[in-house]
Amino acid sequence: MNDSVIREILKNYESKLDQKKREQTIRVREIYNLIPRIEEIDKKIASLGVATSKEILKNSGCIENKIEQLQHQIQSLKQEKAILMTENNIPINYTDIAYDCVRCKDTGYLENGKKCNCFKQALIRTAYKMSNLERMLAKENFQTFNINLFSDESYENEQRTPKENMKFIANVCEGFVINFDKDNEENLLFYGTTGLGKTFMCNCIAKNLLDKGKIVLYQTAFNILDIIRTYKFKDIAKDTSYQLAYNLLFSSDLLIIDDLGTELTTAFTNTEMFNIINSRLVNGKKTIISTNHHPRELSQMYSDRFFSRIFGKFIELKFYGNDLRWEE
Ligand SMILES: [Zn+2]
Repeated sequence: MNDSVIREILKNYESKLDQKKREQTIRVREIYNLIPRIEEIDKKIASLGVATSKEILKNSGCIENKIEQLQHQIQSLKQEKAILMTENNIPINYTDIAYDCVRCKDTGYLENGKKCNCFKQALIRTAYKMSNLERMLAKENFQTFNINLFSDESYENEQRTPKENMKFIANVCEGFVINFDKDNEENLLFYGTTGLGKTFMCNCIAKNLLDKGKIVLYQTAFNILDIIRTYKFKDIAKDTSYQLAYNLLFSSDLLIIDDLGTELTTAFTNTEMFNIINSRLVNGKKTIISTNHHPRELSQMYSDRFFSRIFGKFIELKFYGNDLRWEE
């Protein structure tokens, strides 16, 4: 999981907890004004608590008796407080901190040091948000994939019918997800015209990995270059979201580059794109490229170095058939 994402979430936990403590303080003040006796009780309970700790530290003889006595006093004070609250129609937990998650008390971590489920959920939510995928994922996944949309008639000079081809592609994609954590240098290059299921397959893979708690970043080549330009040329020192987006280009578990080849290719874009993909390859991070161009066309758009270094490391999957008009 990405460090900067985790830091961001922990920061949210902290500020949420601070806010809750402030709200609690206000409620406590309110109750003390209303029923001054409760303030006395709270103070007494606090000092008895300190006295208990001292007894435990002293660890002298007949300590158990003393502690039992102190505990008894605390209990009866708590009872008195509860009665006062009830008499005044105040909910018994009104002066407690109102945690969103009682399991981890809004810290994200359980007492045994493990991540709380609410933390894992937050990670997935953040991942969805940053992956640019929030909207479409509910309806598109391997389960909703309908192979029968594809024709079983032979197509142009292709060996497989479009239907057989999609079955093959779906298998490769499912394998990609299953073996995602293996260091197998598996990267995918989807190519073919629009409307043939490239976006659908990207979504399926993204959803599966997000549900496993992976960080997936899904961006068009155009947006990626925009992120880089903003990061490099503008004053974004204070804008952490751009920094985060830039870092994720390199550190996300999966980067999906959509529409490669539609961006303006210059020496700058060439170098930057190469840089991202190459450093991901070096660090064993996986990438999926989706493009409307044939790899041959891409080789003309990008430098030889780019092409020979990068595309050799991708499994090329060709999408073909008649436009299904289901993607747009
Ligand atoms: Zn929790």
